[in-house]
Amino acid sequence: MSAQNPPFDVDLFVIGGGSGGVRAARIAAGHGAKVMLAEEFRMGGTCVIRGCVPKKLYVIASRFAREFAEARGFGWTPGAPGFNWQHLVGAKEAEITRLEGLYAKGQASAGVEVVKSRAVIEGPNAVRLLADNRIIRAKNILIATGGRPNIDTDLPGYQHVVTSDEVFDLEEFPKRIVIAGGGYIALEFAGIFRLLGAEVTVIYRGAQVLRGFDQDLRDGLVAAYEKAGIRFVLHDTFTRIERGDDGLVGHTKAGLALPADQILFAIGRVPNVAGLGLEKVGVALDKADAIAVDAGSSTNVPGIFAVGDVTNRVNLTPVAIREGHALADTLFGGEKGIKPWTVDYANIPTAVFTTPELGTVGLTEAEARAQFAVVDIYKTSFRAIKATLSGSDDRVMMKIIVDGETDRVLGVHILGDGAGEMIQLLGIPLKMGATKADFDATMAVHPTAAEELVTMRTRTARFLSDNNIK
Ligand code: FAD
Ligand code: NDP
Repeated sequence: MSAQNPPFDVDLFVIGGGSGGVRAARIAAGHGAKVMLAEEFRMGGTCVIRGCVPKKLYVIASRFAREFAEARGFGWTPGAPGFNWQHLVGAKEAEITRLEGLYAKGQASAGVEVVKSRAVIEGPNAVRLLADNRIIRAKNILIATGGRPNIDTDLPGYQHVVTSDEVFDLEEFPKRIVIAGGGYIALEFAGIFRLLGAEVTVIYRGAQVLRGFDQDLRDGLVAAYEKAGIRFVLHDTFTRIERGDDGLVGHTKAGLALPADQILFAIGRVPNVAGLGLEKVGVALDKADAIAVDAGSSTNVPGIFAVGDVTNRVNLTPVAIREGHALADTLFGGEKGIKPWTVDYANIPTAVFTTPELGTVGLTEAEARAQFAVVDIYKTSFRAIKATLSGSDDRVMMKIIVDGETDRVLGVHILGDGAGEMIQLLGIPLKMGATKADFDATMAVHPTAAEELVTMRTRTARFLSDNNIK
């Protein structure tokens, strides 16, 4: 495919240089398409610049606190450790700048023309670059503009709060931080700031954080966080935020006044669709104001596609990447013999980088019990070998959910060190349709925590569809 036919300047115009856009652009260019990509902020997008990557660096930084404390049990006498927030921020900045450069280089070497500009749709096959007002005629347009933090602008004093966009670069380390929300971001940052030495309060509107995760993981994480000194304010939300002499105060519906140096809002993200010109071409949105797409990432307008968080399907980097890849292969891979394909959303492994870490793949116990006639649970909770000498009473929790009729493993849930690494690998047997017998037939690696996954022999519960425990 080429852009030699006059009406088009490019075969594919990608709006957004994040996880989904970058992958789609590189693969399309590799298939011989003429590709232009516009990024208005920094190449790499949310994940690289103010998401997964800096977050994981901060999680790693925070966990040294435990290492210092636990080293004593192994004979070390560490001095009083000091922590320098500004150093961490600077080191993070250097690393993401390096990655940003690699992303730009990767695009250039694939033959993608990258433009540093906001891009908006002007017509069914036209994109305007706001930096120089140029109109690019594009045979296909891919919207990969991601999402942005949800902020309640009706909340009096909302301008005093920060979101994940700002929290990585706070000038001063907040000694007291209140975090609104009960999802991935709220809990990851609660763990980071607590281990780095802050007083942390999480305020959540519901009864228990991490809605949608397996109940045992939620219980285990909340217990561990409370033990670490994180305070949970539940069934409550902010009514106003004030700045006073001693920092901020968040006033809540239940009448609490929560003092803080920073208040972090982590109450979800909204798709980046505003001001994109979608109404000019009639691109339809769904109920959540995300771009509505079919399984192949096509919008309702021929030639306009969307991938990643802007479509609000599963808002994770590897998913955005795969959606971008599938689309590029489908649009431009034909000449190389690549057949059109779509993303399979079943059994996506995911981790929440709290401390302890949480890893999950497949169905929760509640989901399995709602869908299957017989559900078997294998569950264990144990002290990892490190805890024996460190003196920590942290426990690792593992749970395997099995279809009692076919023996197929439906879900695995882990809370503890290395859960993210383990769940990545567990994604493979689940994808392959492994049975509990396959797990049992696998030789253990000793001594590891993961060996428990192949040595759990005793069923801890069986649920029949009428919910009677057998
Ligand atoms: P993005 O990566 O958001 O990229 C969109 C890009 O489009 C941005 O660079 C933006 O500047 C640009 N853009 C927007 N509008 C325009 C326009 N009109 N013109 C030009 N450019 C435009 N996911 C995980 O899998 N693991 C994690 O550990 C993880 N941690 C996270 C931590 C945080 C704090 C956050 C916020 C997110 C995290 N995520 C994580 C989610 C992950 O970052 C997103 O799912 C992923 O970045 C989505 O990719 P995307 O391509 O859809 O959008
Ligand atoms: P989440 O969807 O995970 O959580 C949002 C939280 O905010 C929920 O607890 C929700 O409550 C609450 N909430 C939503 N709206 C309001 C409101 N108006 N007032 C008060 N509370 C509200 O979003 P995050 O912002 O934490 O993260 C966004 C997404 O980014 C994640 O869903 C995930 O897909 C991705 N991500 C992935 C990470 C990873 O892979 N490790 C890390 C960080 C982000 P309720 O449950 O009651 O709806």
